[in-house]
Amino acid sequence: MSESALLQINGIHKTYDHPVEPVSVLRGVDLSLSRGQSLSIMGPSGCGKSTLLHLIGTLDEPGMGTVSIDGRDPFSLSEPELARFRNQVIGFVFQDHHLLPQYSVMENVLLPTHAFPVETDTETRARKLLARVSLEHRLDHRPAELSGGERQRVAIARALINSPALMLCDEPTGNLDGKTADAVAELLFDLHKEENNVLVMVTHSPELAGKCDRSMRLRDGLLVDA
Ligand code: ADP
Ligand code: MG
Repeated sequence: MSESALLQINGIHKTYDHPVEPVSVLRGVDLSLSRGQSLSIMGPSGCGKSTLLHLIGTLDEPGMGTVSIDGRDPFSLSEPELARFRNQVIGFVFQDHHLLPQYSVMENVLLPTHAFPVETDTETRARKLLARVSLEHRLDHRPAELSGGERQRVAIARALINSPALMLCDEPTGNLDGKTADAVAELLFDLHKEENNVLVMVTHSPELAGKCDRSMRLRDGLLVDA
């Protein structure tokens, strides 16, 4: 494994069991990314992009192959250790914002800090991040009281609250209109640079993909250069 890699995956396979016939989705995916790098992953619907992101995000275990994040094998950890690891090291942004409707913007951003409290002043960080995504005037609003773009900006702030080394975004602008999508994408890239994390972005937008250091495509279960 290359010494500076924050994320290293080798020979990842994933097959879903299904009563009709097993679905072989990933067939030997290799990838290595260092701190500060960004990667886009493109490919037609159903080719396995979300599956791959779930495996990188330690939400699911590969049938074969290895995942190493920050020098650790997440799947060697116990369930509680893995939950803590994921909480501290990985940030997720999905196509849907996944905000909790009953909580305010501020409370939603602070949610990932409650599971495993740390010493740092999380409320100050939350305020800073919400100002950074231009929502300092919406701290007490509920998700239903925000626009689609605003909700996605809250989701980005929430993903970054624990300063994760790895940011995983699954079609983060897929539900937004063109202009809003551009603004949210720009914000994601600016924050990626400021935080110096690894950014992995699944997208259908060639323009968005072009902003990443590397662009790859999932084809027949393999990750190939786009
Ligand atoms: P993408 O994100 O590229 O659209 P997915 O990773 O969601 O694709 O899905 C890849 C393939 O795996 C699809 O053919 C899908 O039907 C299948 N699949 C996804 N999740 C499951 C599951 N839990 N059980 C069985 N098949 C699944
Ligand atoms: Mg998907």
